[in-house]
Amino acid sequence: MEKSKVCVTKVVKQPDIESEMTVYQDLVIEDGHKSLLKGLGVEDFDIHFEPPERCVKCKSQEIAGLIVLGCLDGILFWICNACEHLHLKYSKMRTERLLKKGEGFWTNANDWKPRTEENTN
Ligand SMILES: [Zn+2]
Repeated sequence: MEKSKVCVTKVVKQPDIESEMTVYQDLVIEDGHKSLLKGLGVEDFDIHFEPPERCVKCKSQEIAGLIVLGCLDGILFWICNACEHLHLKYSKMRTERLLKKGEGFWTNANDWKPRTEENTN
């Protein structure tokens, strides 16, 4: 049997870190920038493979993982819940490539079911 080519992004269960999901279309990317990351307003290209303890910008400890559906099966950025500063989890080039993957991804929020015991696994 042929495997489905459609890749469904799952919620990654990381017990210690809260994560949020978004889709490419919901990212505010300004036009006219050389790169998607610049368009997103990312100016800090330090890589944090683990969530940073504090936001590098405002020092808040409210860091969450940001999952961009269609881009990667997992957390793509660390986002500061206080100032929304994005921290890269992967290199600039890799993040840029992954973001491009999500460009055509679309989902209807109405299709989403609330999480229950049955569909969590
Ligand atoms: Zn911050």
